[in-house]
Amino acid sequence: MKKVFIYFFLFLLIFFLLPALLTKKDSEVSAKVPEKDINEIENQEINQEHNYKNYGVIKLLHKKTGEIEEVPLDMYLCNVVSSEMPVDFELEALKAQAVVARTYTIYKIQNKKHENSDICDDSSCCQAWISKEERLAKWDENERESNWSKIEQSVNETKGKIITYNGSPINAFFHSNSGGTTELPVNVWGGGSNLPYLQVVETNGEEGYEQYKSEVVFTQNELIEKLKTKYKDIIINFDNNEELKILDYTDSGRVKTIKFGNHDLSGTETRSLLGLKSTNFEIIKENGNIKFLVKGYGHGVGMSQTGADSLAKEGKSYEDIIKHFYIGVEISDI
Ligand SMILES: [Zn+2]
Repeated sequence: MKKVFIYFFLFLLIFFLLPALLTKKDSEVSAKVPEKDINEIENQEINQEHNYKNYGVIKLLHKKTGEIEEVPLDMYLCNVVSSEMPVDFELEALKAQAVVARTYTIYKIQNKKHENSDICDDSSCCQAWISKEERLAKWDENERESNWSKIEQSVNETKGKIITYNGSPINAFFHSNSGGTTELPVNVWGGGSNLPYLQVVETNGEEGYEQYKSEVVFTQNELIEKLKTKYKDIIINFDNNEELKILDYTDSGRVKTIKFGNHDLSGTETRSLLGLKSTNFEIIKENGNIKFLVKGYGHGVGMSQTGADSLAKEGKSYEDIIKHFYIGVEISDI
């Protein structure tokens, strides 16, 4: 008889008490979520908690002061996103930037550059960062709260999401404006830098942004002086069109090699010596001056930020945007 009673009690427990307890929990999660999805969401939350144990807090090196600060990952990402992308860009573009920033951070934690920290706040070394106070001070007072909550939304709505290729976080390069076409890493950083997910990709709508077009004009002397900082013996006969011309282009249409008199320079070297916004340029001789007409802004590899915004305006989600710029990748939980 005792056994029967125990079985009966277990039956009651399994079929009535447990579901009642779970139902209570369900309603706490969210009334809007269909019941069948709740287990999935709960599992995700458990996974995220678990994985955020490894990556929940990062050690951020402040380059100028040398101070190392421990900050929660997502709080850090808000500072990064607000520093890297204009807040008036579409929410889906900001979300793509948040996922790119989270991926880059995890990649840096796994491939450390600094001894006692995970990442630094210098954009030329690791990833741009701005303190919340500094950021807010740059916005109009009446927009501060809504702007910051839009940034937080971009980070929270992509919580735990990173970009992976074959299960590993990618090296998520990005730049300001691709000029309509992105570039292969090999054409920027040389041999061995190519990665299968970084290909030449075309994006519509980038011409509508101020970063798309720029020009720099030099007198003949100014141009010579700029080039002399590296090539002391440079001589250009400006009357001869053969002495100043683009010799070849990369597959994306950027300048690969350019002839300056007695020297042939790469597009990337020319960009840095002359301070051009990209290697996508034409040369125009005008009234004895030399004009560089430049398209796009940045190295051109990976995600274009204005391209991301333009895709978001077409109704694309952050996942669509990421998969447009990084080929064959997955959006995974950390
Ligand atoms: Zn660094």
